[in-house]
Amino acid sequence: MLEKKMVDDFDSEEFIQEFDLLTKDAERVQKETLKKILEDNRDTEYLQKWRMENTDPETYRNCVPLVTHNDLEPYILRIVDGETTPILTNKPITTISLSSGTTQGRPKFVPFNDELVDTTMQIYKTSFSFRNRLFPVRNGKALQFIYSSKQFKTKGGLAAGTATTNVYRSPQFKNTMNSMQTPCCSPDEVIFGPDFHQSLYCHLLCALINRDEIQVISSTFAHSIVHAFRTFEQVWEDLCTDIRDGVLNSRITAPSIRTAMAKLLEPNPELAEMIKNKCLSLTDWYRLIPELFPNAMYVYGIMTGSMEPYLKKLRHYAGDLPLLSSDYGSSEGWIGANVNPNLPPERSTYAVLPNIGYFEFIPLKESAVDVKKQEDESFLCVEPKPVGLTDVKVGEEYEIVVTNFAGLYRYRLGDVVKVMGFYNSTPELQFVCRRNLVLNINIDKNTEKDLQLAVEAAGKLAAKERIEVVDFTSIVDMSTDPGHYVIFWELNNEIINKYNIDDDNNDEGISRLLSECCNCLDKSFVDAGYVSSRKVRAIGPLELRVVKRGTFQKILDHFIGQGSAFSQYKTPRCVGPSNVHVLQILSNNVVEKYFSTAFG
Ligand code: AMP
Repeated sequence: MLEKKMVDDFDSEEFIQEFDLLTKDAERVQKETLKKILEDNRDTEYLQKWRMENTDPETYRNCVPLVTHNDLEPYILRIVDGETTPILTNKPITTISLSSGTTQGRPKFVPFNDELVDTTMQIYKTSFSFRNRLFPVRNGKALQFIYSSKQFKTKGGLAAGTATTNVYRSPQFKNTMNSMQTPCCSPDEVIFGPDFHQSLYCHLLCALINRDEIQVISSTFAHSIVHAFRTFEQVWEDLCTDIRDGVLNSRITAPSIRTAMAKLLEPNPELAEMIKNKCLSLTDWYRLIPELFPNAMYVYGIMTGSMEPYLKKLRHYAGDLPLLSSDYGSSEGWIGANVNPNLPPERSTYAVLPNIGYFEFIPLKESAVDVKKQEDESFLCVEPKPVGLTDVKVGEEYEIVVTNFAGLYRYRLGDVVKVMGFYNSTPELQFVCRRNLVLNINIDKNTEKDLQLAVEAAGKLAAKERIEVVDFTSIVDMSTDPGHYVIFWELNNEIINKYNIDDDNNDEGISRLLSECCNCLDKSFVDAGYVSSRKVRAIGPLELRVVKRGTFQKILDHFIGQGSAFSQYKTPRCVGPSNVHVLQILSNNVVEKYFSTAFG
């Protein structure tokens, strides 16, 4: 019999019972949710345009078209510019989220409102309730690597920032964290600091001061956790000095952070000495997290999709601490909660919450028909036929379509998911990939997932010589005839980092190894279109370009300068030609190039 877990103002077992009720009758809940969204927004310009007589799913699907962000952008931009008539929602939109837009190189504007905050809290509480059954946290603190993006006012006076920033700023966020008994160990001044490098340093410092209380280590995306502990490797001595003397390092210049940290710091030479000894005793920083935080119960964050490549490093830092993938959502709204926290991250699934939006699923085979058209950014001519939430089939892949409470109607999110099973009558989805991240030259089509698998295979060869792929991305290079794929790798190996493009001193063994990696990358794209195009030389040899250490940090800094938040950052896995800045950073930092000889 499971012990009942009371969590302050909400009871997690009761929460699970409510979730059970919702999911047992997912079809009815979906109909009611759609009805509510449509009735609330009946008088908007957008919905009026489609002249719906009814609010049932069939009428909705027959009257309202499927759209992409491009189709809705003119409406959103009018809201951003300050028009107050009901355009997409009846209640005026006062906040805008900036979604990452890392591929195209410019963030997208997405409407944000209180309902999205509410659904965020519902998702957090749902997955927490299930986690809490396995790992009950008690009166602890969380080391949360969370950061705010720059917030600004749009021309029309709306507050704009990333969706995570909008959530962290809401009073509900803090209440929810408190009710889960794992408030963030850092003060708000650190979370909302003006510079994420300074915030990161102070997150680490706050956690070390509270090391015995830390029960959870988390971030929105796993990349931030890996980045944070890589940073720890560089700054641990400074952190120990600060703890020993009770004085904050001068690298922290933001007055708000300095004032807040001064209240927390006091000289503690014993703690500083203990942390120093722990750091010196570790081999290659293995098990760093449990050594620093002996009462940590798990590491938590989104670990699927484009975060999977960071799992190896995360496991290294976490040792035997469980890694739990969090939930599935986007700036456009949440979709599902991880209700099986015992599954390893690679197998995580997300149970869709049927009351947080109305969801449709385009069978992938059908959606592929119009992929070309959508890439041309023209309106879809062949209208795919999505199915409803409860009509999806186990084992099938779908593109997900969202209708939410913040003015998005039949919006193609661009994600591909696979149905792995059902929780009651709601599907459990596995994230497969972003649909538009396609390496494509000829008849080939390789997705983000295909790229990830290729890098994983070649990365294994490199790992034999203790060379680690720190991060990677790709481009399609059409400046050669025929065009070819280019994969960029940043490596952590010291010998590689000494490389200079004009240096004759290249270690031959490593060059040979990286040539092998390049061939392996080329051979690992098993898509029939790619293989046949390579064989007839309609696609040129794949190129591996090694970039200087720190290149991906520069790319990250570039996105943050543009208004992205570190919390929401995802390395672009394929850089489009319009992303001139990132292309420039990559090409300025190349130190070695290899061409595949895999196809002769
Ligand atoms: P953003 O544009 O910053 O709002 O990021 C949203 C995107 O992040 C989603 O559309 C997905 O592609 C990705 N994402 C969010 N949650 C997950 C997850 N649990 N697993 C994999 N990818 C995710």
